[in-house]
Amino acid sequence: MGNSNYKKGTESVWAGEDESFTEGAITSPIVKSVTFSYKDLDEWHDVSLGKKDGYIYSRNTNPTVHVLEEKIRILEGAEAATSFATGMGAISNTLFTFLTPGKKVVSIKDTYGGTSKIFLDFLPTYNVDVELCDTTNHEQLEMEIAKGCDLVYLETPTNPTLKIIDIQRLSFAAKKAGAIVVVDNTFASPINQNPIKLGADLVIHSATKYLCGHSDAMGGVLAGKKDLVQKVFQFREINGASLQADPAYLIARGMKTLELRIERQNASALKIAQYLKAHSKVSDVFYPGLETHPGHSIAKEQMRGFGGMLSFALDGGYELVKKFLPKLKLVHLAASLGSVGTLAGPPRTTSHVELTEEQRKLLGIPESLIRYSVGIENVEDLLEDLESGLASL
Ligand SMILES: *Cc1c(COP(=O)(O)O)cnc(C)c1O
Repeated sequence: MGNSNYKKGTESVWAGEDESFTEGAITSPIVKSVTFSYKDLDEWHDVSLGKKDGYIYSRNTNPTVHVLEEKIRILEGAEAATSFATGMGAISNTLFTFLTPGKKVVSIKDTYGGTSKIFLDFLPTYNVDVELCDTTNHEQLEMEIAKGCDLVYLETPTNPTLKIIDIQRLSFAAKKAGAIVVVDNTFASPINQNPIKLGADLVIHSATKYLCGHSDAMGGVLAGKKDLVQKVFQFREINGASLQADPAYLIARGMKTLELRIERQNASALKIAQYLKAHSKVSDVFYPGLETHPGHSIAKEQMRGFGGMLSFALDGGYELVKKFLPKLKLVHLAASLGSVGTLAGPPRTTSHVELTEEQRKLLGIPESLIRYSVGIENVEDLLEDLESGLASL
């Protein structure tokens, strides 16, 4: 499979599944073997040199892991894909492959917490110039890129206020400067957004989130131009942040229902955002599907759906959030996102706990903000849950 004429929902099911699985199995076996044997030494030699397809050692490649890599490659419309033990494995391997001492990266202030730590704490110690711009200030980003840089790192929609940046516009600026464009597409999923079609060179996912979809496995993936993916793959082979067959199987299994889940989550999130927007006890709602969202028009251009993530602020302080959240019954109060079950938490205690109130304010994060990752439950039940929680305040 992997015929690009098929729609995404079809590819999610079939891509990577045309391996000749043993005994005609119709789902990929979990190949736990660490190593792969050869009777013919010439064949072994050719596979080792990459002249012939095959497997040598599971830190490098593995048949079960390959199924997952094929799915994401096809869904992102990429030439090549590789995988990692976690999303942060994908991000750190990609950044450290290309950002050697003396190089410059331009990115935004609102990247995922772990990514932001790499930019602020780690890359500078390797003498990499890191320029972080105000997230939606496209002029500032273009100016910084035009001064010359090696890599442009983007994320859209962002965590937790769902800011939107124009991938096509910034990819164009990056091309002119000769820089590689990397996009973290975790929040959107490949069903809603394909950065490569918009000009990006590489796209990253924390597969732990929507791709897996069930909060039971961790992984990361990278897809894009073959030579670039190959370079990161070679770095990962050696530093060892490889994905194992068991989580790869769970993620690939989760991906079979990706389109179904995302379509449901897109529709539910929009309904919930509209409901919250009209509620007197809610002071602000951040969802790119709302026409009042500052990034709505860009989102409409570059996304096919607005996603299952939203955030909202209660009309009050953090004390009110502490009262409200435990009242919700259909929500796990937990970190992470993109699961079948609804997850929620305040950025003040989760992703942005290490920042001061002042720093959160600079990022536009109210103290009473709640991030809400819509699951696949029936939306009527989720609305009722929110309604009774809000009514109790
Ligand atoms: C969770 C997340 C990551 C990190 O992924 P892990 O699998 O937890 O390492 C990176 N980017 C975004 C946008 C995320 O939500």
